[in-house]
Amino acid sequence: MRLLLVEDDRALAEGIRVALSAEGYTLDWLQDGVSALHALRSESFDLLLLDLGLPRLDGLPRLDGLTLLQTLRAEQYDLPVMILTARDDTAERIAGLDAGADDYLVKPFDVEEFKARVRALLRRSQGRAQPLLEHAGVSLDPATQQVSYQGQDIVVTPMEYQLLHQLMARPGKVVTRERLSRALYGWQDRVESNTLEVLIHNLRKKLSTELIRTVRGVGYVVELKP
Ligand code: CA
Repeated sequence: MRLLLVEDDRALAEGIRVALSAEGYTLDWLQDGVSALHALRSESFDLLLLDLGLPRLDGLPRLDGLTLLQTLRAEQYDLPVMILTARDDTAERIAGLDAGADDYLVKPFDVEEFKARVRALLRRSQGRAQPLLEHAGVSLDPATQQVSYQGQDIVVTPMEYQLLHQLMARPGKVVTRERLSRALYGWQDRVESNTLEVLIHNLRKKLSTELIRTVRGVGYVVELKP
């Protein structure tokens, strides 16, 4: 799962990053509305965590969280959005919900409650948006994140699941290493160069060795007829 946090409070952002990476999520962080809108239009995220009071960065116009949310919904982006509000300001929360937020939290919040709400939002959106993916004896359920092979449940790590999901969602199409890397790690640059290979190796061992084909120098593909 790749989440985008738009928040100008550095300490809070760091706390959220630590909490969510412990859960196996990938978190990308931006501090202003304009950069966030650009990222959301050009890349794919599973959840947006949005502060409403956002600053203007040098050289960019100001775009507050509420306007960002209204813009996204007007452009038919339906990803789940949790707003983070600094004050216990009822009017602001109502405006956020009216603009299309799915949930909100008032800062400061309890980290366990935060994580539970993130899980709930992701569960709801995954269950709603995506049917079971089945291919060559492998079945992947986005609502429960369960994987089975020839009817047997297979235990996969969160990273292995994400990778398999990316490939199973596009059977017969080559998914580039860059795209996979983005989906798994976001923009962080400390990714070991062989990490994808290790995950692919594990999936081949747990499932079928025939399922995922390497396209040398490009990426990987789940074959239509393995
Ligand atoms: Ca703020």
